[in-house]
Amino acid sequence: RLHNTVQELKGNIRVICRVRPVLDSEKEACSEIEHVQFSHDDDKVISLTKKEESHTGRDRKEEVKYDFSFDHVFQPMAKQRDVFEEISQLVQSALDGYNVCIFAYGQTGSGKTFTMEGPDDMTPENMGMIPRAVDQIFATAEKLKTMGWTYKFTASFLEIYNETLRDLLVTKPEKNVEYEIKRLNNKSEQLHVTNLKYVTVTAEDQVHNLIAIAKAKRSVAKTAANDRSSRSHSVFQLMIEGSNSNRDLQCTSTLSLVDLAGSERLDKSHSKGDRLREAQAINTSLSCLGHVIMSLSNKESHIPYRNSKLTYLLQNSLGGNSKTLMFVNVSPLEENFSESLNSLRFASKVN
Ligand code: ADP
Ligand code: MG
Repeated sequence: RLHNTVQELKGNIRVICRVRPVLDSEKEACSEIEHVQFSHDDDKVISLTKKEESHTGRDRKEEVKYDFSFDHVFQPMAKQRDVFEEISQLVQSALDGYNVCIFAYGQTGSGKTFTMEGPDDMTPENMGMIPRAVDQIFATAEKLKTMGWTYKFTASFLEIYNETLRDLLVTKPEKNVEYEIKRLNNKSEQLHVTNLKYVTVTAEDQVHNLIAIAKAKRSVAKTAANDRSSRSHSVFQLMIEGSNSNRDLQCTSTLSLVDLAGSERLDKSHSKGDRLREAQAINTSLSCLGHVIMSLSNKESHIPYRNSKLTYLLQNSLGGNSKTLMFVNVSPLEENFSESLNSLRFASKVN
């Protein structure tokens, strides 16, 4: 009975852990990752181990082991294709009318953007989940044409920084543009952002182009404001409207892919002014997200969506008739041990 309940809850949000490889630039300092352990026969388990001073002897160190299990654990050699395979069914269900939301959570440098978008030198092999998801959806929509389905796709790409929204698809600088999250008064009750650019897309290439525009806009801000992209959430959304002329059917849904702000704890004692405000905004919105997900799985009557811009914007895609998946991205470096531990703890709370 209890077991069943746990299973039901687990159905709502899936968590996939991904440990990135040690980069060439890091190889001198660290070549082997001994503190991260994977199971030989279970691809759902990951352990972090740490040698700690024992209380009994001066020279003896005790090994402390922290075990976690998720829906899947990807080791550093996993390719983007392998990772996508694990989420492709979920992506597919967006065409069946489900709202689907996929997050990447983890500290800065853990591989969130690599996972969601891909690296800067994008090739078909290393492209991330956003372009792969879009490609798959377009390919499936093409097949469904023969059964009378036609689809309209609309894409948007925005950033939430310090609880303020910014359009990543607008290349000109924006002045005094108010972006407000509003609920549409139609049957679908979709959430809509005023003044945001919604682009009708018909081909994969167009979406790849939008990702490039957003990437460029984020990296300009990187030099101008000391890598603001790591302290903001980026939200890619694909609105799907399908209709079937043969059977008078309609369905609308949204696929959201979110590259969350770095989850690292900033040293508050050394932060002042803007940095402190930023740190607080990030902490607040990441913990709001955690609260929303946990209240949903506890089936609480009040879900605190309104406490952050991110959860309000994604309200329709969290809970109810929607499917949620979270990547927890982990750095393999020993110096990142405590942040990795924090990330895995957060992820196992929502799982
Ligand atoms: P984050 O977005 O979490 O700050 P990034 O995605 O920018 O982290 O990753 C940090 C660095 O590691 C980048 O140079 C990225 O290209 C590289 N990287 C991340 N994940 C992988 C991976 N799975 N394989 C190869 N390189 C990766
Ligand atoms: Mg990033």
